[in-house]
Amino acid sequence: MDQKSNFEKQEDRIWEYLKWYPSMQQVEQLKSLQFLLKESNKQVNLTRLIEGNDFWVSQILDSLWPFKNDLNNQNKSLNIIDVGTGCGFPGLALAIAMPNSSTTLVDSTSKKTTVLKEIIEKLNLMSRVHIRTERIELTGQNRQFRHKYDIALARAVAKAPTLAEYLIPLLNSTGKAVLYKGKWCKEEHNELTKALIPLKGQIEEIRKFQLPKSRGLRNVIFVSASEKCPDQYPRSIGVPVKNPLIS
Ligand code: SAM
Repeated sequence: MDQKSNFEKQEDRIWEYLKWYPSMQQVEQLKSLQFLLKESNKQVNLTRLIEGNDFWVSQILDSLWPFKNDLNNQNKSLNIIDVGTGCGFPGLALAIAMPNSSTTLVDSTSKKTTVLKEIIEKLNLMSRVHIRTERIELTGQNRQFRHKYDIALARAVAKAPTLAEYLIPLLNSTGKAVLYKGKWCKEEHNELTKALIPLKGQIEEIRKFQLPKSRGLRNVIFVSASEKCPDQYPRSIGVPVKNPLIS
């Protein structure tokens, strides 16, 4: 099988899992994203998940599956923030898949956000994708960002209680924090439940998905704010990791 038909097969398969079929423009943007990440990876080590199914399944499908139910409503306008976005996942994949959304990608590593800015410009997404180079403990205390988002998400950034402290202060009154997790065990569930008490959050739903091509089981934890998150959260830089809200 030549490279082109192999690629088209992978691409078709992932859309079947989502029961959503992107426009030609969205497919082109995703292909360009893969190309631009490959190019940038030659200069800066961003990700090893870049070729074939590593990109289409472990990056794109893994980013999008928690939003499977929203993707067929392309007019949906969400204000999204991705915390610890790295080279743009899950936030940038979601921004491409939801063209009426506005997305902020936050990471404290300027090496990564510099590359991301160049990629966003080349994809012509500057009007609705914004990059912020900062620790989220600071962003979460900034009035411009606090209590502003419909969706605050994070993948592979920290343990669940720490993530909850990063994400909940960013939510508006109907917003959802989306915690991307691989395995999800009882101990983690109990720790998150404890952390949600001072943060005034509650677990809404836990969804599971088996990624194809042996890419493993994924869990996603949807959390909402039951009341406005108290002003003291997130605490100062480093405290949510060193002293998570689990006791
Ligand atoms: N979310 C991406 C993914 O799933 O591929 C990247 C994951 S990478 C393992 C974790 C990223 O989180 C790193 O780029 C790191 O700089 C960022 N990060 C960790 N703690 C952070 C914080 N407190 N504020 C902002 N960024 C943070």
